[in-house]
Amino acid sequence: MTFQDLNLNTPLYNALDDLGFTVPTPIQEQAFNVVSSGRDVVGIAQTGTGKTFAYMLPILKNLKFSKQENPRVLILVPTRELVVQVVEEIEKLSKYINNRVLGVYGGTNINTQKQAIAEGLDILVATPGRLYDLALSRVLQLKSIQKLVIDEVDVMLDLGFRHQLINIFDLLPERRQNIMFSATMTHDVDILINEFFRNPIRVSVAVSGTPLDNISQNRYSVPNFNTKVNLLTHLLNNYETFNKVLIFVAYKRMADRLFENLNTIFRDEVCVIHSNKTQNYRLRSIEAFNEGEHRILIATDVMARGLDIDNVSHVINFDTPEYPENYMHRIGRTGRAKRKGRSLVFSTEKEQEAIEAIERLMDMKIPLLELPDVVEISTELIEEERPETKEHYNPLKRRQDEDAPGPAFHEKKEKNKKVNQGGSYRREIAKKYKKPKTRGDKNANRRKNRK
Ligand code: AMP
Repeated sequence: MTFQDLNLNTPLYNALDDLGFTVPTPIQEQAFNVVSSGRDVVGIAQTGTGKTFAYMLPILKNLKFSKQENPRVLILVPTRELVVQVVEEIEKLSKYINNRVLGVYGGTNINTQKQAIAEGLDILVATPGRLYDLALSRVLQLKSIQKLVIDEVDVMLDLGFRHQLINIFDLLPERRQNIMFSATMTHDVDILINEFFRNPIRVSVAVSGTPLDNISQNRYSVPNFNTKVNLLTHLLNNYETFNKVLIFVAYKRMADRLFENLNTIFRDEVCVIHSNKTQNYRLRSIEAFNEGEHRILIATDVMARGLDIDNVSHVINFDTPEYPENYMHRIGRTGRAKRKGRSLVFSTEKEQEAIEAIERLMDMKIPLLELPDVVEISTELIEEERPETKEHYNPLKRRQDEDAPGPAFHEKKEKNKKVNQGGSYRREIAKKYKKPKTRGDKNANRRKNRK
């Protein structure tokens, strides 16, 4: 297939010619008609697959010239770097199209951005926080948005932007096309799709279900978190074999919990990356791991996506990924450049279904290893593992959904719950005398006059 088969228009063909692109990438090929159809779309594709053009080609093909000032296409991305990158990509494609593209993000002067918006635009690329501020300031009108693209939604949710996204949805017209791209499927992404998308069509660059031959895989059946820690400790004590170990967990809380456990035993050998850590901290951790300063790196799926690390001796799936594709991504971090790699997955009884889904995808069984005798079986359960019936006896325990992966959310403390109603003096007087006593209450006077 070539771009000629997509029935684009001359300005787009000319731009693609200038770029030297002739063949659409698989995600571009798959997404084109679906995005053109106007239906909601969920695309699963990683950076580097050409996903930006996958949504921009159909959008630009169908975007008519207009002098209207309010934007018609909104593209939300998690970071300012991505704003810059996406704007650049759109500008390359729009070389022969008369449209106006603007990128906005936080941490820079909002007034300059307000001025740019006031000049009129067609396509706005933004980070959620800054977009919301601009919309609230009313300089930015979102009522004419026809297409909403959320790119890297997994990273966005991992960074805790869920509430901001929902606030933004509220400002957008009901009738619009939603297009979402994510590199990994996560529980949070799934929830967002189910809540806000109308029968989306899914497109994805199929993750190969065929693991590399040079990666050997095994699994351990382990009853609970604490026993998993015991097993892990036992394995990690073998320094020679387990010399560069990448450990995956599904969410931040678990990453921190595991880090605390391992750090007491393997002090100065462990580092952790997830989205609550600063970018600097993450970069330092990755570097320390890469250079062998730290032997063990704990990472969440979303954060580990872009990792380019060589010579990983073992990938350890401390939990069993809920989405089998994530397992493929995880184990692909070892056995790179044809070297021999090893992968282990720990699964509890609860995770048995997930193991079966992975085995179906790969069309092979992951050989089971016996728990070594020296590994102590713990019966002590962590908070997430305790049966829910216990809730009954402990009304103060946090609700289940607060324990779910994603941004931490806490009930406000009682004293912070009070809403500032203003004019406490007036309210107290009113309470005491049952009717307004101050002269300033115009409505009370009006009511009186009407009688
Ligand atoms: P993305 O996945 O959108 O970050 O794109 C990755 C890179 O691939 C970008 O530098 C694009 O300019 C480039 N690219 C996008 N589409 C194509 C294509 N059909 N052929 C060659 N390169 C492409």
